Amino acid sequence: MHTAEKGLTCHQCKNLTDKVNLVFCSKCTKKRYCYDCIKKWYPETTSEEVQAACPFCMENCNCKACLRVKRPSDKDENVKLKQLQYLLLKVLPVLRDICAEQNRELEVETAVRGVPVTESDITSCDASINERICW
Ligand SMILES: [Zn+2]
Ligand SMILES: [Zn+2]
Ligand SMILES: [Zn+2]
Repeated sequence: MHTAEKGLTCHQCKNLTDKVNLVFCSKCTKKRYCYDCIKKWYPETTSEEVQAACPFCMENCNCKACLRVKRPSDKDENVKLKQLQYLLLKVLPVLRDICAEQNRELEVETAVRGVPVTESDITSCDASINERICW
């Protein structure tokens, strides 16, 4: 049997790659990554580390297939949304109180000042100007 000559596919790029260019994971004994992908996608990870435990085993695989399956970000966003809703519900009554207080303050202020600028003031001022111009 000479199946080895056909090569194997890299888990990340799915390219048919020569066995010597692949790093086999000793943990799952299934996944293998080519050196190009390790260098390109996991620059922080050495081929020795991939051999000890591949990115897939470390739940760190960023290949297209794995990213589609996992999507942990969706869960994160849901949690964030829940937290935001909770925060909003907690803050809302406080905000309403603040608004009510501000309204009350405005009412008090107008009551104290009375009605300082009346419409008649403005019109009489206009009238005097008009008189002066016409005259
Ligand atoms: Zn690859
Ligand atoms: Zn593995
Ligand atoms: Zn993967």
